[in-house]
Amino acid sequence: MNGVPASEGVAIGSVYVHDPGEARPQRQSIDSGEAEAELQRFARAVQAVVAQLSHTRDGLESAGSADEARIFEAHIELASDPELESGVEEQVRESRSPESAVLAVGEEYAQMFAAMDDEYFAARADDVRDVVAQISAEITADLTGSRVVSGLASLVEPSIILARSLAPSDTARIPEGMALGFVTAEGSRTSHVSIMARSLGIPAIVGAGESLLQHLQTRPATVALDGGAGRAVADPDPETLREFEVRRERHREAAAVLEEYRHAEALTRSGHRIGVYANLGSASEAKAAADSGAEGVGLFRTEFLFMEREKLPTEEEQYEAYREVAQAFSGKPVIIRTLDVGGDKSLPGVQQPVEENPFLGWRGIRMSLDTPELFRPQLRALLRAAADSEAHLKVMFPMICRVEEIRAAKGIVEDCKRELLDEGGFAGELQAGAMIETPAAALCARELAEEADFFSVGTNDLVQYTLAADRGNERLRDMPGAEHPAVLRLIGMACEAANEAGIEIGICGEAAGEARMLPLLVEAGVHELSMSPPSIAAAKKIISELE
Ligand code: PEP
Ligand code: MG
Repeated sequence: MNGVPASEGVAIGSVYVHDPGEARPQRQSIDSGEAEAELQRFARAVQAVVAQLSHTRDGLESAGSADEARIFEAHIELASDPELESGVEEQVRESRSPESAVLAVGEEYAQMFAAMDDEYFAARADDVRDVVAQISAEITADLTGSRVVSGLASLVEPSIILARSLAPSDTARIPEGMALGFVTAEGSRTSHVSIMARSLGIPAIVGAGESLLQHLQTRPATVALDGGAGRAVADPDPETLREFEVRRERHREAAAVLEEYRHAEALTRSGHRIGVYANLGSASEAKAAADSGAEGVGLFRTEFLFMEREKLPTEEEQYEAYREVAQAFSGKPVIIRTLDVGGDKSLPGVQQPVEENPFLGWRGIRMSLDTPELFRPQLRALLRAAADSEAHLKVMFPMICRVEEIRAAKGIVEDCKRELLDEGGFAGELQAGAMIETPAAALCARELAEEADFFSVGTNDLVQYTLAADRGNERLRDMPGAEHPAVLRLIGMACEAANEAGIEIGICGEAAGEARMLPLLVEAGVHELSMSPPSIAAAKKIISELE
């Protein structure tokens, strides 16, 4: 069986086939005089389901699993959706049983989602089905006084779970330690089963399609699974079994070795210390990043805060998000980059001009300086979050090309600070840094270092602007990256200027997490490397082996 590699790791074990069957309502119809009593039964069932979901959400929140907690928050919203309630009420008043009505109304919604030409929304169809099935089962339990316990909840032997699909309520029901792996026929890397598997550290393959569906019928006794390779073998022969055992051992050894480095300082052999930080796209990733060993945040891309919603976030919402990250990294540096839209990133709720060359257009700091209605609330939110005594926030401006831009941006920071204090509010200290992601910034690093409190090199853009090679163009995938001598020379110039001026310099582009680039970047004189959290332990290990 081959599928989408959803969560790394190797598992070999006995199989549990999860086959929930179709949710079947106990009754189809009711007597017309019973509508009121049945609607009350429905309301009780919704309450009970919301209570169970809230319990699961709270548990995940206190365990620091914010992303998973959000899944259950969304399910709570679905369960208490007023349109679901009015749809059910209408049908119950026409003598349909509530356990049947809720499934029918839910299916209408599910099909609407499933028809959307968007992987994320299509995946939400399963969420709706999951929630209405729980409400329907709760009504049946209320009627019969007995509750059918899902087989998953009563698993007693650690198993690899095969299923057409696994809903969040399914994975949440599995007793701790009983899931060795997941293989599902449906799903994508962004399905909830994948998110859950990654955060629980359980190897998983999703979207295995037909090849798995057959096995759901024949029910193999054992499965060998390599989540990272997207491969699973049912009832493996002795040779295949041996191959997977070797893979499992290698994976365990590598993970155990890296574990030693996770929370260690990254010191070269000569004792030179390099900060290893995390790149974040949302506040909810902060806690997990700190657990991965991040010593700070080198880049918080705030545009995702603006993009993952239909309306622009308010100053208050931004303040909450920045405060959450600062708290997760209490006392440690957290670099928040101001909005960097334009280029390949658009912003819902903001009219952006159609440009012939958007990567060379109105993006990053250029747009921020022209739109105070976007820039000022962001800076005010940051200044307020920085007022917390535990916070060590810094602000960073993207796409800097000229000294005037950083000067102007710093002027607006000061102005917002005065405004907040005049209003009787709080405003903390914010160091202001420049991203070095254009050749102009690297070449003028000396001048910029007189204005900036720190630098961070965005190698993704620095490579594309230096090599005149669109970073998203598939055909150019064989072009060199940050290892190109021109890019290395520019990074070297920025490091020299920073070290002369006595300011910090980090790298926050993808090159910071690439094994082959680490020796070159450390050699160039950077102080800090910021990368996606799963790369942190490996990067610390490589640094510790450098002279
Ligand atoms: C970069 O350009 O290297 C960078 C970190 O910014 P982004 O990838 O968000 O453009
Ligand atoms: Mg960039």
